[in-house]
Amino acid sequence: MSVLKGHCLCEAVQISVQDAPGWVGVCHCDMCKRWSGAVFACFPASEFEVDGPVAEHASSPKSFRAFCGRCGSHLYMRDEGRAERDFMPGLFAEARDWPLKSEIYTDRALCWAGLPGDHNRATQAEYQAKYPSPMGEPS
Ligand SMILES: [Zn+2]
Ligand SMILES: [Zn+2]
Repeated sequence: MSVLKGHCLCEAVQISVQDAPGWVGVCHCDMCKRWSGAVFACFPASEFEVDGPVAEHASSPKSFRAFCGRCGSHLYMRDEGRAERDFMPGLFAEARDWPLKSEIYTDRALCWAGLPGDHNRATQAEYQAKYPSPMGEPS
């Protein structure tokens, strides 16, 4: 079992993730764009430890977006009743080499933020047809 270690900008929050998937998904929806400032990227993990001054914002009735209460670095997203969290890849040095697997809400992206490559892509309408909840899991 491989353990991935990461931390926020001020290092007050330390994160360990077991068996990370080794790929990243990107979402350009209006909420992710606003929260990230531009491009939102994450990867799912169900076994992890998070220590430090974590703060969470309830961004929708059953979804929470977490950040370091000291430096504000974004840490993860989680849905109520779902074991997985979607972690921010930039917190982990090893994630630099992971490929992009999916890009969703492509028609909502900032005009310069579309990403090159042969990964899966879906517009807002295409994604919502597959996942009725507006912020489901990227596939
Ligand atoms: Zn911090
Ligand atoms: Zn999104």
